[in-house]
Amino acid sequence: MSEPMPTIFFGHGNPLNALAQNNWTLNWANIGREIPRPAAILCISAHWFIPETAVTAMPNPRTIHDFGGFPQKLFEVQYPAPGSPELADRVQKLLAPVEVKSDARWGLDHGTWSVLCHVFPNADVPIVQLSIDETQPAEFHYGLANRLAPLRDEKILIIGSGNLVHNLHAYSWGVHTPEPLDWAQRFETTAREMIESGNHEPLIDYELLGKDALLSAPTPEHFLPLIYILALQREGEKVSFPVEGFDGGSISMLSVQIG
Ligand code: ZN
Repeated sequence: MSEPMPTIFFGHGNPLNALAQNNWTLNWANIGREIPRPAAILCISAHWFIPETAVTAMPNPRTIHDFGGFPQKLFEVQYPAPGSPELADRVQKLLAPVEVKSDARWGLDHGTWSVLCHVFPNADVPIVQLSIDETQPAEFHYGLANRLAPLRDEKILIIGSGNLVHNLHAYSWGVHTPEPLDWAQRFETTAREMIESGNHEPLIDYELLGKDALLSAPTPEHFLPLIYILALQREGEKVSFPVEGFDGGSISMLSVQIG
C-alpha cells in the first residue's frame, strides 16, 4: 500500500498574506511543491464556525471575502477552485451517524483561500470545506476527525486552517515582526512539545492548561482545526513544522505537518 497523504495544519494569520510574498507564504508554496499532488482537499477552517456540522457540496464554491477594513485589492482576489460533490458525499458517509448538512451557500472562506492561493496557485485541485460545530467540545472534534482517516489513503489532502496562538486584542497592528509576547511563546513551546511527543490529550483539554492557554486561545475556533489534524496522526507517524514564527506578537504562524 502506498503512503497515506500527509495532513497539515496551517497557521493562516492576517488575510493580507494572500497578497504577500514573505517567509510564511514562500514556505506554503514550498509545501505545495513537495507533497504528492492530491485528488482533492478537505479543509477545516476557523472561519466556518457554526452551530452544526456541514460540508460544502456545490460544484463551484464562491470565494468569500469574510473580513472588513482591508484594501480593495484583497476583496478582488478570486480562488476559482472547483468543489467536489463526490467528496462531500464521502465525508457525510464517513461521519454518519453524525448528521452532516449538505451546504449550497458557503464556499471558500479566507481561512482556506488565503493559504491555498500560495500552496496551489493554479486553483486546480477540488476543495470541500467542513464546518466546525461551535456547540461541541474539542473532544467531539477529535473523535469526528478520527473517522476521516480513510480519506488519507484516497489521495485526499486534509488541512486545518487556524492559528495555534490567536489573540487579536494583544496583536500589534502594523508591526509585522515584534517579539512574541511571553505567554504566547510559552504556550506555543508547550503545545509544540506535546505535538512532537504525540501527547494529544492535554491539547484536547487545552482549557485546563492555565492562563497561557486561555490567552492564546481566548475563543476556540482558530485552535480547533489543529485538533482535527492531530486526530489523523497514525502510530509512529512523523511530525514536522514546515512554517514557524509569530505575527504581531500574538499570532503563531506555526504549521504542523503529519506524514
Ligand atoms: Zn483567521
